[in-house]
Amino acid sequence: MTTSIGDQAIQPLAPASPGPPMRVLAAEDNPVFQSMLRTMLTKWGYQAVIARSGTEAWHVLESDDAPRLAVLDWMMPGMDGLEICRRIRSARREPYIYILLLTARTESQDLIEGMDAGADDYLTKPFNSHELRVRLRAGRRILDLQEELLKAREALREQATHDGLTGLLNRATILEKLDDELSRAERSGNPVSVLMADLDRFKAINDTLGHLAGDAVLCEAARRLKSAARRYDSVGRYGGEEFLIVLPGCDAAHAALQAERMRDAIGATPFVTPSRPVNVTASLGVACSSDSVPEALVREADDALYQAKGTGRNRVVVHSGVWDHTGCAVT
Ligand code: GH3
Ligand code: MG
Ligand code: MG
Ligand code: MG
Repeated sequence: MTTSIGDQAIQPLAPASPGPPMRVLAAEDNPVFQSMLRTMLTKWGYQAVIARSGTEAWHVLESDDAPRLAVLDWMMPGMDGLEICRRIRSARREPYIYILLLTARTESQDLIEGMDAGADDYLTKPFNSHELRVRLRAGRRILDLQEELLKAREALREQATHDGLTGLLNRATILEKLDDELSRAERSGNPVSVLMADLDRFKAINDTLGHLAGDAVLCEAARRLKSAARRYDSVGRYGGEEFLIVLPGCDAAHAALQAERMRDAIGATPFVTPSRPVNVTASLGVACSSDSVPEALVREADDALYQAKGTGRNRVVVHSGVWDHTGCAVT
């Protein structure tokens, strides 16, 4: 048999990235092959996770932190390597698991069957250890590429849904969120409130301190609104210096309290800007409904905001509300 573990030419394989060695699942019922695989993998710089049966291998691969590289024996008690391949591929899980099938079967029909079941590569026993080593390395290259793709996709999703300056949800996404919450509220009968917050006389900050200071104020306002929000509220940048906050399960009175908290979060302490600290205030309009369309609810909050501006700014107004509190007006 050509399988060799005493080959002096084999150098330890440095991990692709700093950190713990990459884990490789080796599923093999034959104790001799098991121990060979463990020794080889360890020598090449991997951390071997050994499974002695197909069932054990499936449990490992099903877990949340499953190894992403798997060497599976075809013939195993419990569940064979082919069945494991099929199950993994039908689960369409991410991140991808790269599977190398090991088998004594040498017919080309077997290879076709193995690859058809979802194996990425195929090695017949007895195998040459160099060959296994380079095939594992090829698998790792594929996995590295996939990881880069996933990261790029995540970055694109973040860009498409978030505002570039403040990091809050962007207008389209916060409106989508409101749409979702209203659909949910229609089923549950719970209220949904929205707050429209607008920084007062913000143009003056740009005009006197410059746009960079204006940008710093917007970022800090976003941060303050976000930290004043409850965990299940969503905060978005609706426009220039306007923010839309969606409060699921919140009636008008509680939304008004929440709006007060946000007004206070903005106005309580001066904002640090590149030039000098500046006092900033915000006006907020509140609207509440469980059976409204998103556009109507936003319009109501906007109307209330308009009233807040018209009655002196730095205040909360509830649309058609009964809220009566210092600093809060009733429309
Ligand atoms: P009001 O109290 O009535 O809301 O007055 P305001 O000055 O806040 O409102 P106005 O609509 O007159 O001005 C908003 C300003 O916000 C104008 C615009 O140049 C500025 N702005 C919009 N987006 C940005 C941005 O991303 N960065 C900066 N620095 N300024 C922005
Ligand atoms: Mg076997
Ligand atoms: Mg404004
Ligand atoms: Mg505005």
